[in-house]
Amino acid sequence: MNDLHQLGVAELAAAIRHKKTSSVEAAQHLLARARQHASLGAYLAFNEDLSLAQAKAADARVAAGECGPLLGVPLAHKDIFVTQGLPTTAGSKMLQGYQSPFDATVVSKLAAAGAVTLGKLNCDEFAMGSSNENSAFGVARNPWDTQRVPGGSSGGSAVAVAARLAPAATGTDTGGSIRQPASFTGITGIKPTYGRCSRYGMVAFASSLDQAGPMARSAADCATLLSVMAGPDIDRDSTSLDSPEEDYTRLLGKPREGASAAQPLKGLRIGLPKEFFGAGCAPDVLAAVRAALSEYEKLGATLVDISLPRTELSIPVYYVIAPAEASSNLSRFDGVKFGHRAAQYDNLTEMYKKSRSEGFGPEVQRRIMIGTYVLSHGYYDAYYLKAQQIRRLIAQDFQQAFTQCDLIAGPAAPTVAWKIGEKSDDPVANYLADIYTLPASLAGLPGMSVPAGFGAGHLPVGLQLIGKHLREAELLQTADAFQRATDWHLLTPQGY
Ligand code: GLN
Repeated sequence: MNDLHQLGVAELAAAIRHKKTSSVEAAQHLLARARQHASLGAYLAFNEDLSLAQAKAADARVAAGECGPLLGVPLAHKDIFVTQGLPTTAGSKMLQGYQSPFDATVVSKLAAAGAVTLGKLNCDEFAMGSSNENSAFGVARNPWDTQRVPGGSSGGSAVAVAARLAPAATGTDTGGSIRQPASFTGITGIKPTYGRCSRYGMVAFASSLDQAGPMARSAADCATLLSVMAGPDIDRDSTSLDSPEEDYTRLLGKPREGASAAQPLKGLRIGLPKEFFGAGCAPDVLAAVRAALSEYEKLGATLVDISLPRTELSIPVYYVIAPAEASSNLSRFDGVKFGHRAAQYDNLTEMYKKSRSEGFGPEVQRRIMIGTYVLSHGYYDAYYLKAQQIRRLIAQDFQQAFTQCDLIAGPAAPTVAWKIGEKSDDPVANYLADIYTLPASLAGLPGMSVPAGFGAGHLPVGLQLIGKHLREAELLQTADAFQRATDWHLLTPQGY
């Protein structure tokens, strides 16, 4: 089969199960394709021997009669997950050449389900960014327009899925890094409830916010991956939720309780926060989002006006809390315990200084400085403590909103993908682009982005759906119902 890259996760798993192809053939095909499109900057590392060994093992399991939704399916990991057989850099020179002695929990769970690792995917340095331009290893390019960013920080994951270099990929989302790149590249991604997926083996950025999730073409494929990735891991991640594993595909294709096949979402109240639909959002994005919402009305949902009054505050709150946690997490990269060490130095202090100055890029250094400042004596109360208090109020705003609706919808990002270089000299312009994803992150709520059409320049627009805590199955059902009625998620950028 020479169009294997056009198959999604479910189709590829079925093709392997029915012996129309093999896992080895699929892996070889996708590896060749990834190399052919190396200029997109999606991948940072391959280990072909490892990929093929995993694929062979999967084929043997298929031959022995085993079947599973991911058995033999090749996928790739954001380079923030540590992997035994491949280097892990977190997009930073600081970790260049680092090889982990163990696999992240998410990686080992996917491997146990028979998924094959194709390689490691480009990302912003330590997952700090919204465009993938902060990677120490070069930009990733949006396949819808290669002069534009794919979003970030999971930019490589988004590019790999959108350009059909992998049927699915892992990502992480601290303040929007799954949802925003999914939106920019016309793919589907879900950030589950904080604590659903183990953070064990994820290079830490802001530990109270970091969460892993799948990125794929469809909500159905995301549900399949999430069912494997999520689950308690209490011994290794103290913030891992002690809630049982779930089958997140269980509601797909089923009408909601009391609804019919013709109007499967009857009874669903979708809340539209007025703060997400104001002047801050580009008109082309709003038009696509509104068209998607009328599709939801046809499916039986009702739209309700709500308010998340502290939406604007989520930017300063996040950009205090995330750098504070980052400054603490990144202190381990000192050239001794972890990371790059400068070649020449006269004393210990100079060794630390030079190692960290050489190893960290400008955005990471900026965040370490901000974080150190807001945690310092005299400023802690004014900044960090205040930000924590407002974070709680933001979570309460959602609780209040969820008394009026079952889930919340709006744009995932205020604009379509911007040009490479357009915002790279202006960190604040980057931060402002996170406005619609940060609130759910601060509240720990599950959120996703679903392809919802196109804006200016025929660039993809994502519809963001935010659910109540632990209601990923309903969120995915709602996204899947939309995808059964539309084909935005099936469209491929020209030439891919
Ligand atoms: N863009 C946000 C930041 O730069 C979010 C990043 C993320 O979710 N990892 O911090």
